[in-house]
Amino acid sequence: MTAANVFMRDLRERDAQRIERREFVATVSHELRTPLTSVKMYADMLGEGDAGELTDQQVRLVDNLRTTVDRLTRMVDDLNVVSLIEAGRFNLQSASLDMDEVVVSAVDISEPTFAEREIRIRIVHADEPVFVNADRERMLQVVANLLNNAAKYAESGSETVVAISVENGQVKVEVTDSGPGISSEDLTAVFESFYRSKSARMSRVPGSGLGLSIARGLVEAHGGKIWAASTEGAGSTFTFTLPLAPG
Ligand code: ADP
Repeated sequence: MTAANVFMRDLRERDAQRIERREFVATVSHELRTPLTSVKMYADMLGEGDAGELTDQQVRLVDNLRTTVDRLTRMVDDLNVVSLIEAGRFNLQSASLDMDEVVVSAVDISEPTFAEREIRIRIVHADEPVFVNADRERMLQVVANLLNNAAKYAESGSETVVAISVENGQVKVEVTDSGPGISSEDLTAVFESFYRSKSARMSRVPGSGLGLSIARGLVEAHGGKIWAASTEGAGSTFTFTLPLAPG
């Protein structure tokens, strides 16, 4: 077999593996959804006293159960989004959208997570309109995923800055934290699905390695770009750009 043939065979095998993995992820996320919905419903019924009044200890246990089910549901939803993105079967409900408003809403939503870790969060607004054509829910998810990572990985007591600006006909959103940073080898790998850096795996920070791959898939589906820059030990900046809406 010639070197070119071996190369083509490897390429086909890699494609087949990718398709197999994508189908596996799609099946798993689909199959997990129904039983999870039932577990959530039973936990809610128990919590609301449908099976009799609960002792304080039982209330605490049921609360833990509900929190865990919610976390699992979010992970299954993430898996589902990843499989849709990878299959290119992603529906966007695009409309004219003020990115400043999206950033403010995402910051509001993630405020409790930042407060819990005593991290300050500051917004630097753009000095001109920042309208894009995009799906609001999906854009919220992109900004929220970046903010969640800053809240998870940055030092407690530090500050995270979200800056919105316009550059070369693009709206630019930058999330800068003063966390542990990311090694130069990991800067692009962190956008692959299920990838977690060694330090994240060794740390107690929970994660599935899906947040950034979802963010990249969603930004690219909107015709934008996303990347990371970092100085190890000093912090990271995640940036994405989207074309300004015409007019
Ligand atoms: P998760 O956080 O669930 O592991 P992500 O896809 O959001 O998954 O991130 C992938 C990896 O990128 C993380 O495991 C971590 O190694 C690294 N990472 C992401 N955001 C940051 C950050 N703000 N600071 C340092 N490392 C980060």
